[in-house]
Amino acid sequence: MLDSTSIDSLLKNNLPALGIDLGGTKIRAALVKDGRVVSQPRQIATPNGADNIIKGIVDLVQAFQKDGNEAQFGIAGVGIATAGIVDCNTGEILGSTGNLPGWSGTSLKKVIESQILLPVHVDNDANAAAYGEASARGLMHSNCVVAVTLGTGIGGGLVINGKMFRGAHWAGGEIGHLRLNLGNKRLCTCGLFDCWEAYGSGRGLAATGRDILSGLSAEQTPLAKDIEGLTTHAIVEAARNGDIVGKRILNMWHEHVAAGIASLAHILDPDLFVVTGGLADCVDFVLLQEMVVDRVLPRIGEKMTIHKSELEGLAGIIGAAQLVLDNLLDRIAV
Ligand SMILES: [Zn+2]
Repeated sequence: MLDSTSIDSLLKNNLPALGIDLGGTKIRAALVKDGRVVSQPRQIATPNGADNIIKGIVDLVQAFQKDGNEAQFGIAGVGIATAGIVDCNTGEILGSTGNLPGWSGTSLKKVIESQILLPVHVDNDANAAAYGEASARGLMHSNCVVAVTLGTGIGGGLVINGKMFRGAHWAGGEIGHLRLNLGNKRLCTCGLFDCWEAYGSGRGLAATGRDILSGLSAEQTPLAKDIEGLTTHAIVEAARNGDIVGKRILNMWHEHVAAGIASLAHILDPDLFVVTGGLADCVDFVLLQEMVVDRVLPRIGEKMTIHKSELEGLAGIIGAAQLVLDNLLDRIAV
């Protein structure tokens, strides 16, 4: 365990922190200082099982510690962004997703701290991405920044007055499970019906595609050749090649994404929405902004903006590292 004097000296030397983004397929890590990545990232394939994942994380930390010993710099702490609901005080994974089986119940902070002797902060990956976006964009003094991660599912994070908003039970900002419909039309991965994620995620886009394509023939659109095997990539490609059905599916998906953002805008009236994740490249931001402005009160729509992340998939790493640094600073301020 580190005492406050040694933490103080780690920070006074303006040391970087290591950010680690634990995903379903890979674990990536890089050193971060002042909201920017300051080292080459390293990555490994995500191993199977909690014990192997922990070993992979420790190996990555030790590789950066070795670099630090050689170049004579230290690391102030380690921030880890992971899927699932996280108790950020204890660093325990309270609930996890299908991408990381057996991860729930892991006391990640305790286990990693005992092996690397550095302060560790563990957070939900979408929360870390939001914090990374706010840090990198210099928005920590804004009222409210909302990050929307559009991928296989929909994740979200809220930074309010420069602080991560976590809710009363560590599950605040689970925006993917806003309810969009009342008809019990689509089952979400969470077990509830008609969540935003069931429509606005990559999985949702493909489901919308299958709905629109049912009854259409291959003469009407090449997408009808393999309706069951329909991918988001095929839809986006078809739309870009001028296929009218592909365009219709993509337009409907924008409607779905806009509906969720409009609901959030009414609750939060944020300064900014930042869209991250694998599907951010498929968004027409001019169209999305128009759709959202059409669906919100004028006072909210007038100044609100929706931007694409410019951090090229590094938001989680930056946010996790910045969270451990800011937590250490808070600890000293007390
Ligand atoms: Zn859901």
